[in-house]
This record gives sequence, C-alpha cells and structure tokens, in this order.
Amino acid sequence: MTEQQIVKKNERYTVEIVDLSYEGMGVAKIDGYPLFIENALPGEEVEILVVKAGNKFGYGKVETFITQSPDRQPVENNALLRIGIAPLAHLKYEQQLVFKQKQVEHVMAKIAKMPEVPVLPTVGMAEPFGYRNKAQIPVRRIDGQLATGFYKKNSHDLVPIEDFYIQDPVIDQAIKVVRDILQRFQVRGYNEEKNEGQLRHIIIRRGHYSHEMMVVLVTRKEKFFKSKEIAEAIHEELSEVVSVIQNINEEKTNVILGDKEKVLYGRDYIEDQLLGKTYRISAKSFYQVNTQQAEYLYQTAIEFAELDKKDIVIDAYSGIGTIGLSLADRVDKVYGMEVIPEAIEDAQFNALNNKIENVHYEVGKAEKVMKKWQEKGIKPSVIVVDPPRKGLDHHFIESAIEMSPERIVYISCNPATFARDAKLFAEAGYAVKKVQPVDLFPQTHHIELVASFVKGE
Ligand code: SAH
Repeated sequence: MTEQQIVKKNERYTVEIVDLSYEGMGVAKIDGYPLFIENALPGEEVEILVVKAGNKFGYGKVETFITQSPDRQPVENNALLRIGIAPLAHLKYEQQLVFKQKQVEHVMAKIAKMPEVPVLPTVGMAEPFGYRNKAQIPVRRIDGQLATGFYKKNSHDLVPIEDFYIQDPVIDQAIKVVRDILQRFQVRGYNEEKNEGQLRHIIIRRGHYSHEMMVVLVTRKEKFFKSKEIAEAIHEELSEVVSVIQNINEEKTNVILGDKEKVLYGRDYIEDQLLGKTYRISAKSFYQVNTQQAEYLYQTAIEFAELDKKDIVIDAYSGIGTIGLSLADRVDKVYGMEVIPEAIEDAQFNALNNKIENVHYEVGKAEKVMKKWQEKGIKPSVIVVDPPRKGLDHHFIESAIEMSPERIVYISCNPATFARDAKLFAEAGYAVKKVQPVDLFPQTHHIELVASFVKGE
C-alpha cells in the first residue's frame, strides 16, 4: 500500500513560496509534496487553489497574495505569464539575470560535479523587451473570426493577443495586418481537434538591421485559394516584406513547419547583418531570435577561442554560418557542418557573398561528419559547438576528443545538457575555464551560455 496522498485537487492552502523552478514557477511544499505555482515568487505568502494533484507533484493557482516579494514587478497583461511567452515578466529584470546565473551554477555543481567553475554574471539587455526578430503565431477560428495569439501553457487553447511584449513591435503590427488580409480573403483558421480549416500558423521574421521581412503562411493543404493575391496584398500593405512563402504541413502534429514550400511573392530568403557581415536566411534555417545579444554571444565565443592565424577551427552545428564566418578572417581555415540542407546552402552563399574563401561546409549529422573528418586526419586546434537543446551526441564528443584540439568553445541553450557534456570533456582532460550566461531571452526562463575549455597538460 502506498501512503494516501494528502494534497487533493480543489483544496485551498496558505503556503510560502520557497523556490523558483527552472521554468520560472513558484515552488511551495506541503509536507514535502511540491506544488508548482504560476506568478508566485520566493518569499511570498499566498493562498492557493490546487488545480492538479499528481502522484509526485501538483499545480496550484494563486487566489490571494498575503505578502509580495520586493523582487516583483507589475505585469500589464497577465496573459503573458499564462501563455508562457514571458513566464518571468513578473520578476524584476536584475533578478531574472541572477536567477539565470544561479541556474547555471546549480547544474555545474549538481550535474557536472564542478562547483568550483566560475559562472560569470549574466549579461543582460538595456531594454529587455521587443527583442524577438521572429514570431510564430498560431491561427485559429474563434466565433467565425480569425484569431492570432498564443496557447495557454500545456494546452491548445488559444489566447488571442496583439501585444506580444517581447517581439519586435513592427512584427506585432505586421501580424495584425496579415491576419486582417487573410480574414478579408475569407481564409479559414485551422481547427486542431477536427483537423480542418486551412491556415495553421503565421511566421514573420524581420531583419534587425536590414528591416527585411519574410511572411510564412503555414497551410494544411497545398491548394490555397487566391494565394498570389493574398501575397500581393501583404506586400502592398507591408512595404518591408521581400518574401512571402507558403509552407504546407498536412500532418496532425505540434511541429510547425512541413517539408514543402512555395514562394508566393519575392525571394525565398531575407538578409540581415551580424557583426558586420551580411547573411542570407531561408525560412527553414535557424537564426538567433535576439540579434543584439547574439552578437554579444558570438563575440564572447570568439574571445574565448583565443584565435590566431594558424588556427584550424571546426564550427559544429553551424546553421547559416554565423559563428564560423564571423571568425574566419582571423584563422587559417574553418570547417562547418549542419543537418539542414537549406542552412548549409545559406552558409555557402554567405561565405561567397562576404568574400570568405577559407571555409568548407558539409550537410550531415554533426556526429557522422565529425567521425569522417577525424578519420580523414583533420586536426582542428579549436572546436566550437552550438548544438540544439539535447546537447552533443556522445559519438560527437568521442570524435572531438580524439581530434585533440587545444581549445573547445561550447555555446548552449540548455544548461542541463551542457553540464552533462562538460563532465565528459573534463574526464577526457579538458578543464572548463569559465561559463558566461548571456540573456538572449529576457522575460522568459530560457538560458543561453558560452563556455571555454582548454586541454590539460
Ligand atoms: N550556430 C548556428 C546554429 C545554432 S542552432 C547559429 O548560431 O546560428 C543549432 C543548429 O544545429 C541548428 O541549425 C540545427 O539545424 C542544427 N542541428 C540539429 N541537430 C543536428 C545534428 N545532429 N547535426 C548537425 N546539426 C544539427
């Protein structure tokens, strides 16, 4: 017999918030049973309603604040917390930066087992809002009208919203314009439950420096009535638009983009600048959403790499080449690899366009290409990695260690997998010198960091 669970759904409790989860939720404990509570900060005393009680933990909702934290700041629109677009908007920005530094310290101690590694203070933004250069907005039909907004956390209920707070305000404005044009052409919003209707998502990217805009309309079916006229209208009403693309996603899935794409207006890419170089960015290519902070991040990575003219650098998980091309003129040679073919086409184009000749790119899984390069006898002095959230594949780490570079620079968007990988590098004789969190995602719990490793004697 297991012990009977004491906390039940719909019960009310008065609790003290003792911690902030890595997702930015307040944590309270009732006889050791953890409850996660949105919009609650450490030190606050709150009356809560239990909204969900599982075996190991539950969720609560604040009914009344008895005390409030001095670290709290007012949030204009509470939907921002609820929809998960800005789950930390109620925490003062200096404290958000401290929270992120502590999270990194925590994983360095607990997962990497290296509490001694210095984690520098998070580098934040002077104006920590309106920074996102990309929006991916679900479209649904609500009361016969097209609605754009965001999902409630852990649900598929759309909360209509117009001011997204962390997005470039020009993009917010453009979403409304595109939505209204689609409404005028009587395009039907997608109904997820019934898997019917046409328009699933509107994606907008806008170059931070170039101001070039791309609009991607993700549809459920290839047949898209009056698509060219719609694209024309978008271009006419939004003069910055240089590209309108239809992406077709017929699957019943959470994945936003399908494989198939059609250009409805203009080109199939936008251009933007980063650290003085120009980049072509296709719809399917990854591009950091916070350009200003990405520049800081890459600059720090380059500094950590301590480059010299003789260096041979591998830029693993290269995307469109932003890191490798930013440092190419300081080194002898750059090798880059990336799994998305469109991104590698962009990288090759970007090299030519910026007159950079000492680079070589290959499409493929990093772990496969790395092994191949290792067997070919390529001897990098520096390896830069920038993997997705799941971190490095252990085959990749084996090949990297086998190649015996002098320095490794690791850029990560997930401290937990970073710490796991850092431990493996440390065991192979690579000491972590320092870790620098850079805030690419203000008002959210997402953390980006860059770390340097050097080979031991
Ligand atoms: N360095 C680039 C991209 C970083 S994002 C930049 O800063 O812009 C991580 C990249 O890894 C994405 O472009 C993604 O497509 C790619 N990727 C994901 N899994 C991969 C794998 N197994 N092998 C190679 N690339 C991968």
